Amino acid sequence: MITTITLNPSVDRRYVVQDFQVGNLFRTHQFEATAGGKGLNVARVIKQFGEDVLTTGFIGGKNGEFILEQLTEQGIKNDFIQITGETRNCIAILSKDVVQTEILESGPKVTSEQIELFLQKYERILQDSSVLVASGSLPEGVPESMYYELIIRAKKKGKPFILDTSGSALREGLNASPFLIKPNKSELELLMNRPIESEEEIIKAAKEISQNGVEFVVVSLGSDGAIIIHKDLGYKVKIPKIEVKNPVGSGDSMVAGLAIGLYKNYGIEDMLKLGVACGTANAMEIGTGQIRKANVESMFKNVKVEKI
Ligand code: ADP
Repeated sequence: MITTITLNPSVDRRYVVQDFQVGNLFRTHQFEATAGGKGLNVARVIKQFGEDVLTTGFIGGKNGEFILEQLTEQGIKNDFIQITGETRNCIAILSKDVVQTEILESGPKVTSEQIELFLQKYERILQDSSVLVASGSLPEGVPESMYYELIIRAKKKGKPFILDTSGSALREGLNASPFLIKPNKSELELLMNRPIESEEEIIKAAKEISQNGVEFVVVSLGSDGAIIIHKDLGYKVKIPKIEVKNPVGSGDSMVAGLAIGLYKNYGIEDMLKLGVACGTANAMEIGTGQIRKANVESMFKNVKVEKI
């Protein structure tokens, strides 16, 4: 089983307001609420691909109930720690077809007792998981070293850990050398604290990270595919032109594909292809963290991996 960890999940509320402007009043019939947070997007894609997935993290209040109901409806296993605070809302306003304005609540505060309960649950979950994926930000109250702790515990049990986060949570997590990280270009720049433009600069930065024991540094580059460093090998994955509907959640979908490839013991190139294929298949859908398996399969045949 693959387990995705979402410590700060959200109800993602999406409104379509074509002519949205700051300071005006708008009405819309086009809106939806979905179980969100990057780890839940990853889980949804794994499930749509037909693989077994468990979701865990902290959850609370009416929003928490909504999320658990949605996950159960979608056949996604869930085993969260209940907290007293209310799980957050994240609001996205889609205007002029593609422009997106986002408002992200910071989320509830988690207590040290709740963290301890989660760590106990995590030890049990580790027994039954083959691959762990942790995505997104840390809620208030959770120390920056949380991902470090989770990675070390997974390593002790010989389980590969994929970390997809940014800023100081990523920096701290890297001290435990996760198996795989998937920064996009701006996350890489933030991590390295320098502008990164050219392919050479991407490769140089990824090599620096990989030298600290991260097996796979997967730098996702939107429509330009991805550049990957694995030990002293480099790969570039190129994608065919597609009709983009909504690239939001493509990074999460890519992480899902990489986790599935790892879980199913794919060879390196096939694992990378599956990651990129899932990312691109998501960009072909309106929904966030949505893929069609048929699109993933056709992308898998059409993406090209070359050694660099
Ligand atoms: P993130 O969502 O984390 O910023 P990216 O935007 O780099 O991640 O997207 C991850 C992957 O999704 C890319 O490597 C690519 O395979 C796919 N993807 C994203 N945007 C597009 C796009 N506009 N066209 C085709 N594929 C895309």
